[in-house]
Amino acid sequence: MDNIKKYGQLVKTLIKKSFPSLKKIRIGIKEKKLRKSSMKAIKIFDCYYILIHPYFRNKSRKAIIGALAHELCHLEDLKKKNFLQLITDSIRYILSKKHKQKIERKTDIRTVQKGYGKELLLQRKLREKMLGKKLFKKRSECYLSNEEISKRIKKK
Ligand SMILES: [Zn+2]
Repeated sequence: MDNIKKYGQLVKTLIKKSFPSLKKIRIGIKEKKLRKSSMKAIKIFDCYYILIHPYFRNKSRKAIIGALAHELCHLEDLKKKNFLQLITDSIRYILSKKHKQKIERKTDIRTVQKGYGKELLLQRKLREKMLGKKLFKKRSECYLSNEEISKRIKKK
């Protein structure tokens, strides 16, 4: 099966199970060599997209699910915002590390709460392996650490 189709089916299953607010939304899935992240969720006017780095092509299903669940949590938030809010938010996201951190940590926490903590952790470990410890640490400053994710899984 081609990759886009495979991602599409995973997204459909995830939405059905855990993201009821996204049920009626069409989400475009595209492969893109993103520079600093492995997946990205965007909303332009009323169009929703998930961009996925080709690096995921032959990675484990669970790790892909972890990343997709995080992006779907972003889309749930983006859905509530109008065009002007989206613009202001993305500018703040780029300019303020504090704002980015707030958004990303909140998104990670919700991903775990929805039951995808183990998958999220697998994705982070995969990313750590790919980037190396040092770069992973630098790129992950705004996210929950692997230890924090593990702790939250246990608390659930
Ligand atoms: Zn994110």
